[in-house]
Order: sequence, then C-alpha cells, then structure tokens
Amino acid sequence: MKIIFASHNQKKAVEIRSVLPEGLSLLTLHDLALNEEIPEKEPTIEGNSAFKANWVFKRFGLPCFADDTGLEVHALNGAPGVHSARYAGSDRSDDANINKLLESLVHSSDRSAQFKTVMTYCDVNTQIQFTGIVKGVITNEKVGEFGFGYDPVFIPEDQTLTFGQMSLAQKNLYSHRARAMAQFIDFLKVKIV
Ligand code: IMP
Repeated sequence: MKIIFASHNQKKAVEIRSVLPEGLSLLTLHDLALNEEIPEKEPTIEGNSAFKANWVFKRFGLPCFADDTGLEVHALNGAPGVHSARYAGSDRSDDANINKLLESLVHSSDRSAQFKTVMTYCDVNTQIQFTGIVKGVITNEKVGEFGFGYDPVFIPEDQTLTFGQMSLAQKNLYSHRARAMAQFIDFLKVKIV
C-alpha cells in the first residue's frame, strides 16, 4: 500500500519510516515533487493537522496522513503551541526558536512542558486523528546535536537526556510522534488485512 506523508520535513519522514510496518510505502511531498508550502493557519494543532491531510488528499487522491506538532510550555500558558515552527519569526529557525524559548523562561522555576503531535489520516471514506503526548521539562541550555526543532532543550519525563542527545531508537521510546504513530499503525493494520 502506498501512503503519502503530507510533509516536506525529511527529519520527520526519517522518524516515521523507522516505525512503519513492512508493506507500507511512504511517499513524502518531496518524493512527489510538490514544492508548494501547505498553509498552516488554523488556530489549533488538530485543525492544522486536518487541514494539511485534506489539502494533500484533494491534490493526489491517495491515502494520506499529516502530522502537526507543538511544544506546550506550562509557564507560558501553552505557548509556543500551534506557533512552534514560527515562534521567533517566519524563517522557522530552530536556533532562534530555542533562544526565544530559553529567554522567555529565564526567570521561571516551572520548566514543565509537553510535546503534542496530532496525526490525521484521510482516504476516500475516512478521516481520523491520533494524538501522542510526551511530558517533560525544558533545560536551561541546549544539550545534544541529534534530532531537530526543540529536541536539544527537552528532557522527557523520568529521563536524564534531552531528545537532542538520544539516538532515533531512543527518541522513539518516548516521543509524541512515535506515540501517535503507534495508534495510527494499529489502525492501519486492521485496515489493510
Ligand atoms: P510542525 O508544524 O508539525 O512541523 O511542527 C512545528 C514545530 O515544532 C517544528 O518546526 C519544530 O520546531 C517543532 N517540532 C515538531 N516536532 C518536533 C520534534 O519531534 N522535536 C522537536 N521539535 C519538534
């Protein structure tokens, strides 16, 4: 079965391919030579995720799923949340986003946060969402070179390493995206047998 992942983010695609069962062939927007950016203007993570999946399904007519993710920081009333990609501006710089986050928390003793991923799957008969959450804390400085986005400043609950210090296999044990994918894969297994 061929399935489109409605994203240009190759690092997310690597994470997703690493947990996909055999027999599923993942096509990214890169593989489909679609360079256009999908609008992400909805006010919620759920809304953006659904919008992206529907937009790509209408374009290609193949089963398709999208992921939208946000980092929700308790002391910042849930920010950056749905604005995580452009927290420090429209150029979506990971370094600038992290710097702004660390500056916003410089006087805060409450460092608790969570990543939330909402996956939306669409085909001709179905639209369904799966949510994965990982709770944790924001560090005082960047630690680690792996991953992407806010990985170097997030330590998952009960762990000592940031996602930025973890291998992909380790991150998959805890991550929001792997948790949403696990539910999605259970759904797909029923659907494709
Ligand atoms: P998106 O809208 O789902 O692409 O994600 C919004 C932003 O959240 C991204 O630009 C990254 O900065 C951040 N993000 C998403 N997933 C992760 C992750 O797994 N680790 C760290 N940051 C992430």
